[in-house]
Amino acid sequence: MTAPILFRDVRIFDGSGRGLFPGEVRVVGNRIDTVAEGDARLDDNGTQVIDGHGMTLMPGLVEGHAHLTWPSSVERVVNTMKLPLEEHLLVTAQNARITLDYGFTSAYSAGSLGERFEVALRDMIDAGFLPGPRLRASALEKGAEGVMGVPEGHDATHDRDIAGLRRYVADMKALGCDTIKFLMSSDEGFAPGGAQILMYSEEESQAIGEAAREHDIWLACHAQAAEAVKRACRAGFRAIYHCTYADEEALDMLEARKHEVFTAPAPGLLYARVHDAQSFGIGEAEAKRMGAVSGLELMAEVYPKMRKRGIRVLPGGDYGFPYNPVGRNARDLQLFVDLLGFSPIEALVAATRHGGELMALEVGEIKRGKLADLLLIAGDPTADVSILQDKARIPLVMKDGGLHRYEVGQRERSFDIIGRGSI
Ligand SMILES: [Zn+2]
Repeated sequence: MTAPILFRDVRIFDGSGRGLFPGEVRVVGNRIDTVAEGDARLDDNGTQVIDGHGMTLMPGLVEGHAHLTWPSSVERVVNTMKLPLEEHLLVTAQNARITLDYGFTSAYSAGSLGERFEVALRDMIDAGFLPGPRLRASALEKGAEGVMGVPEGHDATHDRDIAGLRRYVADMKALGCDTIKFLMSSDEGFAPGGAQILMYSEEESQAIGEAAREHDIWLACHAQAAEAVKRACRAGFRAIYHCTYADEEALDMLEARKHEVFTAPAPGLLYARVHDAQSFGIGEAEAKRMGAVSGLELMAEVYPKMRKRGIRVLPGGDYGFPYNPVGRNARDLQLFVDLLGFSPIEALVAATRHGGELMALEVGEIKRGKLADLLLIAGDPTADVSILQDKARIPLVMKDGGLHRYEVGQRERSFDIIGRGSI
């Protein structure tokens, strides 16, 4: 067994919502063994000491709406969503490593472009053969290809009768998926007016929900129209993404299920279409046509209400486009602060503690007994969440007690300056 690791001279953000406090943290095996506060010193006998030089120690981030199979990343632009299977699976594995490099130690999938890609990838990561975040693996994103511009890859290979839907849910459980993603509504990005087009009837939604409960598998959905959100709530969906057009009744239904439901708006894609996609052929008019401008405005109305109602809203989502690449996911925390009315600490809690609840794993908090997924950050993210977008300011990424990235020793001089300079 490797020696316990002791983090010394760190300021701790523990994921609970309280501000930074000085302390020390000891990791034994893959768990957090002790958290000492203030001037208390832990015994360093027999431990590997990591001197944080006053940096922030925080829980690993959770990407609440991940698409590791969407090909583009900060390392490479891929101008298609569909690659030959072999390349696609390998790019997906690369994206998993990039996601972890950037401090996301967990990822909850919101749909895959390969039927067993994420199941196979999750098992390879869990066995320690490939680097990547803890992964809740999804089946394909299901909808109805060709309806209201729904693109290729969202094909309904399941039969669209009740028995076929039930069989599909059972089959995905048998494949080893943790979650299944349905397009409960189409999207403005697929075709103008698409957000209001419902893809599954009440009866179909209920059948999907019942089958999922029977087979013990989670349900996630893309839901733009208010009625899509309501249908997903009534059917017992666990992750309900976007909710852009949620009305008061939809918000009431989400609030009534706030202990079991999670949402993620995924503002990053819309933001990128408005601000970062010109060189990819999406100008102002196109961004408007795709509903990106109105979508951001609606989110800015809906999500502050959700937060006030205590509905768990998670950052992340829809990274993997050339203009919104995997690796840029932490930008969502800044968008939560700038656009959705979250304080920096609220955005951090959403990406850590609430993320851990979404994963249903003992992650997302620095607390005795929790799994040791930890980041060292040069600077104070509770004052400025934008620093999380800079990989150079995340010199250490620990997952499950193991050091995935550890660049403190080589670069501690410069980090020392950044870390202390921003106190
Ligand atoms: Zn998505």
